Amino acid sequence: MKVEEKRKTGMYESVMHQFNNAAEVMGLNPEIKKILAATNNEIVVHFPVKMDDGKIQVFTGYRVQHNNALGPYKGGLRYHATVDIDAAKALAMWMTWKTSLAGLPYGGGKGGIQLDPSKYSTAEIERITRRFTHALGDNIGPDYDIPAPDVNTTAQMMAWISDTYMSTKNPLERSRFAHVVTGKPVGSGGLEGRDRATGFGVVVSIQAWADWKKTTLKDKKYIVQGFGNVGHWASLFMKEKGSILTAVQDASGTIYNPNGIDPQELLEYTQTTKGNVAGFPKAEAIDPSLFFGLDCDILIPAALGNQITDENADSIKAAVIAEGANGPISPEGESILSKKGIEIIPDILCNSGGVIGSYYEWLQNKQGEIWSIEDVIGRLEKQVLTSFKKVVDAASEYKTDFRTAAYIVAIKRIELTYNQRGVFP
Ligand code: NAD
Repeated sequence: MKVEEKRKTGMYESVMHQFNNAAEVMGLNPEIKKILAATNNEIVVHFPVKMDDGKIQVFTGYRVQHNNALGPYKGGLRYHATVDIDAAKALAMWMTWKTSLAGLPYGGGKGGIQLDPSKYSTAEIERITRRFTHALGDNIGPDYDIPAPDVNTTAQMMAWISDTYMSTKNPLERSRFAHVVTGKPVGSGGLEGRDRATGFGVVVSIQAWADWKKTTLKDKKYIVQGFGNVGHWASLFMKEKGSILTAVQDASGTIYNPNGIDPQELLEYTQTTKGNVAGFPKAEAIDPSLFFGLDCDILIPAALGNQITDENADSIKAAVIAEGANGPISPEGESILSKKGIEIIPDILCNSGGVIGSYYEWLQNKQGEIWSIEDVIGRLEKQVLTSFKKVVDAASEYKTDFRTAAYIVAIKRIELTYNQRGVFP
């Protein structure tokens, strides 16, 4: 089995392992467990797109809708070579737990296209995105399934999705459909602050962890995998806390400076290199295999799933891992970390700022309001801290780790809904 294949199947195994473990610890009703172990809908679309050279290429797009007991399906669209039905299923399930833990009126969904966007022109990406939206048709909708940005998808792409979806509707009602996606640019119904919401939430949860440990983030060393939306915003907010960034790894390479890398300078550099950190002049390039074993206090994975496995977990020196990415640790990796006493702020808590920001954008659109950035950031911080406290309380009640505790809080809310409503017919 090739490495990429191992990674792809791994994410679904990870989420099922985590779910089964939490279900056992909390004593989840076995009938409800059956429902939650399955995904409601798995949509696969094949659609043709005319390339710049005039030739037709057929693409495959996915949208998996895991569960909508609490509200419309919600979750990102990813453009990456590792996207397939198993990856979308795993990521959709994580969204169900994440939206439930955050107390939002949403279920979970995820999707995307298996492609490397760097191989296409902007005009091609626009046509691919619009045609994908058209192929999904009414499988998405502002009160049914609401996509958002994820790996390699941007606010611009969300604007194209919104415009394409609206264009298929009766002109008299088009504006009712703008919030079919969140993460739009501010000029097109987007929320001030949605761009930084995930990274901000990551740092709010790291600060909450530090407070809980009665320690401070000042002068703590941290390393970050992924310097895209989540990684760069988290780094900028960590800088405000006085923490020191010593290494960054992304798809282009790994850079290291034990005296500190300024995230703002690195961001400005990446704006000249299509987002790549490789070649940053104020750090040295190191072998990527050394990254996870670097000396640091805090590790923030903010790239892809299953990056920390039984192959590298033993080398990790951080005291805490804050999961900016979804599913960055495999179950085998996690069991090694737990033996080493390394704590984990789980993805469904740590990166929930993104979907909470998306919820504010959706509300803003639905109510015809425009929120200020101060309002957004203030509410976001409060909401992530509320979730953090629920997780700490559940961990203490069930004498378990933060991940299992976070799952228990999330699953209990859905279990209650099923118990109250029953199952049709
Ligand atoms: P992005 O596309 O903006 O950035 C992805 C980063 O990962 C890039 O720096 C890229 O170079 C790096 N990367 C890709 N392959 C890599 C590899 N093999 N090794 C090391 N680095 C690699 O994506 P993003 O929106 O920042 O998302 C990152 C993670 O955060 C994903 O797991 C995503 O699901 C999760 N997440 C994102 C949001 C959001 O609001 N964007 C919300 C919650 C969770």
